This record gives sequence, structure tokens and C-alpha cells, in this order.
Amino acid sequence: MPYPTSLALAVTLAAALSACGATGESASGSADSAGTLSVSAGFYPYEFVAARVGGPDVQVTNLTKPGGEPHDLELTPRQVAALGETDLVVYARGFQPAVDEAVDQQAADRAFDVLTAVDLREGEAGQDGADPHVWLDPVRLATIATAVADQLAEQAPERADGFRDRAEALTTELEALDDELRAGLATCERKQIVTSHDAFGYLAGAYGLEQVAIAGLSPDDEASPQRLAEVAGLAKDQGVTTIFFEELVSPKVAESLAREVGAQATVLSPLEGAPDEGDYVSAMRENLTTLRTALDCA
Ligand SMILES: [Zn+2]
Repeated sequence: MPYPTSLALAVTLAAALSACGATGESASGSADSAGTLSVSAGFYPYEFVAARVGGPDVQVTNLTKPGGEPHDLELTPRQVAALGETDLVVYARGFQPAVDEAVDQQAADRAFDVLTAVDLREGEAGQDGADPHVWLDPVRLATIATAVADQLAEQAPERADGFRDRAEALTTELEALDDELRAGLATCERKQIVTSHDAFGYLAGAYGLEQVAIAGLSPDDEASPQRLAEVAGLAKDQGVTTIFFEELVSPKVAESLAREVGAQATVLSPLEGAPDEGDYVSAMRENLTTLRTALDCA
């Protein structure tokens, strides 16, 4: 069911729902049998998962607008209010403080923190807290898809089979992607990936790479001149050919570092926003191609 476009419609809808309850019909969640569940996702990877797992039974809204950088998302009062009407919020606690706050106010009992479903790694030395970039490991994302299916099934038990079947299909696809990444990155000349911010720790961990992040867990954590000098020295020592930057953040720092060490600057997508074309899986395949070139993989 799309969001009500006016307060009047919202009131009508609420009246209709309570009328439905008054006739004694059972309502599971707020989905009626003809309608769809509304799901709000904090940012792209969870929009992707919710849409794939929910299929025709859900209407997914991404709280981060296209082109927006999700870490420092700010929500409009309208978006915060809309969370009060949504059937399920899929978010990563600690990743987007504005979403955490809105969930606490509006949807504490209908929100699923994906980070509770998977093992977490710590951020690099000197940073506080666990690394939330779990979606860059396809196997962890598959675990999250299964958990999202369970959450949706709780909201609409009569549709549980569909949610679980679609989560299984997505898992198969993500496992195939994992196999491709593993095989494609198994034999490479180098394993250091120099990245703009500390987003690729799970990817590096899964495929035997070593991430050297210029900035911290958030792109807003500015790198100190010391850190830049350290990364430049390391890149030169290791014969790094490529400095990676990302679509949603200025490439300036990566480009000047690349010039300094005689490397090129190329996009490696952290999938924090929707890819221009295709989806999570095809964008990760592009990342694989980029990594294989940068690291001279066999
Ligand atoms: Zn990030």
C-alpha cells in the first residue's frame, strides 16, 4: 500500500483499519489480504534485500534519497512521521543516527536491526565500535535476507512461504556471487586495497585482501595529514597501482594521493547508494572486475 499522500487520506485509512478491527476480522500486522506490507529501508542494500524477499507482497521505501550519502542522512519531519505508519523498518543501528532516533520515536516495536543477525568486526585501530558495512560480504547479506523473511513473516504469516522462498532464491544468488569473488580474487599479485573510507573490511576479510582506508568508518571522518602520509608510504612500498574512491564522496583526496604515489584513481563501489544500473549483485561483479585489474589477479 503506498504511503498516504495527505493527512485526510491517512485519517481515512486509519478509520478503515479500525472499522475492520471492529467487525472482528483478524488483522495480522496492518496488511490486509489484498494490500501489501510497507517496508522502510535505511539505505540501498536493505532496500534491495527487502524488495527481493518481499516481492509483490511489499512496497519498499528507501529513506536515503537517490544520490544521498547514507551515513549522514537527515530525515524530514514527514519521513519521521511516515515511519509511524510503516509495517517494518529494516535498518543498521549505529550507521545512520537519524534513523535510530526516528525508530525509537515511531517504530521501536516494528524495526529490525540487521546487525543483530550477523557477526560483526571491529573498525580499524583507533576507531570506536563495530563496523556496520556487513552487506559487502554477500554471505552475511544472505543471512540478513533470511532474517528479513522471518520478520516479514511475523507481520504477515499467511505470506510466510513466499518470503522464505524468495529469501532462499536470493541466498542461492548471493552464494554464487561469493563463489565468483572467491575464485576471482584467489591468486593476485597484490592484496592491499587503498580505499576512501573504512567500508570494505568485510569484503577484505572474506576474500583474503587487506584494506588500507584513508578515512574511518564514516566518510566524514577526515584523514589527518599524518594518515595520508602513512597511506602514501604504504602504497608506494606495496607497489599499489590503484587508489579507490566511491561514487557518493568527493574523489579529491583519492586523486591527489594517486598522483603522489603514481597510481590511478578508480571507483570501487561500497553500494551505499543504488547503482546507476543493475543491482547489488551486478555492481559487486563490477567491483570484482575492478579489483582483478587493480590487483593483477590471475
Ligand atoms: Zn560507509
